[in-house]
Amino acid sequence: MNISELLARNARKFPDKTAIIDGNEELSYAEVDRTVNRLASSLARLGIRQGDKVILYMPNTKEFVFAYFAALRLGAIVVPANARLTASEVQYILHHSEAKAVIAHEWICGQIAPLVGQGNVVWIKTGEAADGWVSMADLIAAGSPAPVVCPLNEADEATILYTSGTTGRPKGVLFTNRNIFAVATMMVIEAKMDRHSRILHMMPLSHSAPLHLFFVGGTYVGATHVLAPAFSPEALLQLVEQHEITHFFGAPVAYLLAAKHPRLHDYNLSSVRYWTYGGAPLSRTEVLFIASRFRTDRLMCLYGLTEAGPNGTYLSPEEHAEKAGSVGKYAALHCEVKIVDDQGKEVPPGEIGEIALRGESVMKGYYKDEEKTKETMKDGWLYTGDLARRDEDGYIWVIDRKKDIIISGGVNIYPKEVEDVLRTHPDIVDVAVIGVPHPEWGETAKAFVVAGKPLENLAEICKRFLKGQIADYKIPRLYEQIEELPRNATGKVLKQVLRGKYDETAERR
Ligand code: ATP
Repeated sequence: MNISELLARNARKFPDKTAIIDGNEELSYAEVDRTVNRLASSLARLGIRQGDKVILYMPNTKEFVFAYFAALRLGAIVVPANARLTASEVQYILHHSEAKAVIAHEWICGQIAPLVGQGNVVWIKTGEAADGWVSMADLIAAGSPAPVVCPLNEADEATILYTSGTTGRPKGVLFTNRNIFAVATMMVIEAKMDRHSRILHMMPLSHSAPLHLFFVGGTYVGATHVLAPAFSPEALLQLVEQHEITHFFGAPVAYLLAAKHPRLHDYNLSSVRYWTYGGAPLSRTEVLFIASRFRTDRLMCLYGLTEAGPNGTYLSPEEHAEKAGSVGKYAALHCEVKIVDDQGKEVPPGEIGEIALRGESVMKGYYKDEEKTKETMKDGWLYTGDLARRDEDGYIWVIDRKKDIIISGGVNIYPKEVEDVLRTHPDIVDVAVIGVPHPEWGETAKAFVVAGKPLENLAEICKRFLKGQIADYKIPRLYEQIEELPRNATGKVLKQVLRGKYDETAERR
């Protein structure tokens, strides 16, 4: 089955059921399906065929949904690009994916205006036609509502998701329809989604967790999707109350911001059955802080990465009381997990190794990068680059990313461990620790600190606070206070930007 068939099936089964709420507009499954057929027939007329790549450059709006299903219905491969990407970032994706069409939202199409006209690409935007742009509304109006039947099967390719590039150049992660089904059904089952679920989409649908787990998962069972183009704590609380949301997925930074919101307790959030979080680490202290501020025992942690669809492991709400901070014990459905040494042998509990994942939800491979695919997938196992250890009960605790480890004088320092402690200092709002070159020890740790007020003697304050909480050799020697940490579109700290910043300051000295 093609992913787009899920929509058509819902339109047949319960045509009047609300599929999408976008601002004040509500659209039923039948209405969305008809619009998708119209758009698909017009895209076909413009020459979009099976296997062609179509970039979606849109925030979470109804047009994203139309374009996503319309392209899939033709057997085209959807390439979602985060709405916050710059023209040069979109250009990279455009060239690498060799896209035949770009469908952009009129709110943001100005950001990529310099690219319009490049290559043999059809440029489509929502709203009215403009210089170089075809109007998506005109395409929908001119299209036929007759069902477009897609000839594909599950093994065919459906999407390429570009990773957020936290550790280097974005990689194009290729998924088949079957991969996506495997990911989506996991969420349906583990988070008990059904036709009565109301899912709030505030994280960008261009990323694997929001798109595959929650959007496709919800569509699988005919849930109602509430679309929000951007995250803000106020909007989160207001939309949850207004629409009686049952499921929400957010990045850790989104939860931390909402947890600190002064009016958090003015809202009725009791409809939520699963407050899911993931995509970046949260310490045990932070998870407990969020749970107490939200007054909830319905937190669910998801660990994974784009390449895994993102399915990896999960920590259910019931396990939080005892194991908050861990990413769970078991692999997600359709997936296996092990923690291995450099030879791929499973390490015993307590020892640090790399997380490896295997299963139907794991990507087909990196688009146009066989070498990188071979490096990452060995004997059917995806090597995640994440270091972790199991505790005596088998629960997995993520230590850090392999690439971020600091090797100072021959010993390993895991930045996350240092960051987790520093973040509990009352004056410290945020922190990131990186390795910087050192003439004797190879590398030494440097902490970039964000604080609510200027901290004189920053180094002294931090060192004194860390003393006794972590071993002396792990305490960073260098400190710098900065306004805010550089983060990517999904809220992840961009450590390579901090490393670049360090190089620049070192050069200036
Ligand atoms: P790139 O691969 O281009 O650097 P990226 O790392 O931002 O981009 P993602 O797939 O979005 O790509 O991130 C996956 C990573 O996020 C995981 O490998 C892991 O390091 C981290 N992560 C995800 N979920 C969790 C979690 N629940 N706890 C801790 N870390 C997590």
